[in-house]
Amino acid sequence: MLYVGLSGGIGSGKSTVATRLAELGAVVIDADGLAREVVAPESEGLAEIVARFGADVLRADGWLDRPALGAIVFADERARRDLEAITHPRVRDLTEQRRAAAPPEAIVVHDVPLLVEAGLAADHHLCLIVDVAAELRSQRLVRDRGMTPQDAAARINAQATDEQRYAVADALLDNNGTREELLDQVESLWQQRLSPYNDNLLADRGVRRELPVRIEDYDAAWPAIAARAIARLQRQLVTAGLDDRVAGIDHIGSTSVPGLGAKDVIDLQLRVLDLDLATSDAFRDALRAAGFVDGRLRTDTPHEWAPEPEVWRKAYFNGADPGTVFHLHVRPADGPGAQLALQFRDWLRANPAERDAYVAEKRRIAALHPGRTEADRAAYPTAKEPWMAAALGRARAWSAAGR
Ligand code: ADP
Repeated sequence: MLYVGLSGGIGSGKSTVATRLAELGAVVIDADGLAREVVAPESEGLAEIVARFGADVLRADGWLDRPALGAIVFADERARRDLEAITHPRVRDLTEQRRAAAPPEAIVVHDVPLLVEAGLAADHHLCLIVDVAAELRSQRLVRDRGMTPQDAAARINAQATDEQRYAVADALLDNNGTREELLDQVESLWQQRLSPYNDNLLADRGVRRELPVRIEDYDAAWPAIAARAIARLQRQLVTAGLDDRVAGIDHIGSTSVPGLGAKDVIDLQLRVLDLDLATSDAFRDALRAAGFVDGRLRTDTPHEWAPEPEVWRKAYFNGADPGTVFHLHVRPADGPGAQLALQFRDWLRANPAERDAYVAEKRRIAALHPGRTEADRAAYPTAKEPWMAAALGRARAWSAAGR
């Protein structure tokens, strides 16, 4: 069920991690292995390559002559694209076949060096990046794989940058230390995050915020977490052919306002053209593939300017990843709830004094109603309502005045 992307620069330790994950019970799909398989002797892929590039790219024993082909495509952008048009769809199909063949309750790890370069991160429930300083990677490649320092540097520089990898990383495995230290991290990640994430997906069980209420300082990682989740949702909606029924996906709520302290909960909003979509199996499957589960119908609190509860209906999902608490609000795009969430966010972003007043109010109420028990849990939002109603009025007026 759980589909994990594993990547890192060349020489970072991906294979070492993949081997350990397989020992722990994961089904590993080795993208490099599949890339070799689709051009093996007598394969259709190889026949197409020979038809396009000539028999000079074949060795005497019938295998592809990678250095010869590499020399051609390295020098010629169009040739490279032609080659990719032959190999990429085949690798993609084979990857899907291997995934489908895995037991339904298995954790599948996709070991894919070009995760970032090929734009594959959003296909996975979670991306693991093995992180090592480039200098150390280069030393290990020279020491263990007989590369010259120049070769190692050229390979490393041809790949995505560390920053690009960090942007897709849901978890980093630090491999600047010893192999044992790396394997320990893999094991705790398996126990604390991958296994429970998989169990949650299988049980359709969402991850809820823990009691009591805690207002954290603003965390610059929040927008990046939201962006990765939104990319996953978008990817799965496109894959399911449902994207034309969705108007947009937004990061909303307090974590979407730079500088605002908040509960450590990422609120997302998915605006649908018709709320009926939210109860369809196809939609729920797409959301599960993006890591969102336990969808149920709810109604936001109506306001006097739109008193009909009907127009405040929404579907509400939680994330299944134990690493993050997500609240996903699926709202009709033309309804008041979706508009209000965006207005309130944009107003707070544009008005630092209001933002600071808001966090002061949140801290005051959290101190009064820490929500230490399930029963007290609702007291916090209820106590926030008077300030909130007035603030929403100001946000709407600001929005109506065209900012
Ligand atoms: P990748 O699959 O990302 O290219 P590997 O797992 O093959 O990387 O690791 C690259 C090389 O570095 C291998 O020879 C491996 O044994 C070695 N290696 C991996 N982790 C460590 C470590 N923490 N300390 C020293 N050598 C390591």
